[in-house]
Amino acid sequence: MTSHDCGCEQAREQLADFLRRELCDKDRSEINTHLQDCPDCDEEARMELVITQTVKRCCADEPAPADLRDKVASFLRAHCGNAAPGNKD
Ligand SMILES: [Zn+2]
Repeated sequence: MTSHDCGCEQAREQLADFLRRELCDKDRSEINTHLQDCPDCDEEARMELVITQTVKRCCADEPAPADLRDKVASFLRAHCGNAAPGNKD
């Protein structure tokens, strides 16, 4: 038997939610406790955390799509006579 009830399966299932802070305090502390006892899952959690943060950073750094901005600007020009709010003269 390779499987024993150490909570790894549940911990890994909830790891993504845990890292996105979408778990309630009870579930979160259960996983925290498991990570302290289980080097394997702790390592997995660290890797997931790095990936999550990298993805988040990439999304944040992504430049606003220029053509969308142009569309919004020309829409505002056409409908309001102003290029953009706060650009009044
Ligand atoms: Zn584990």
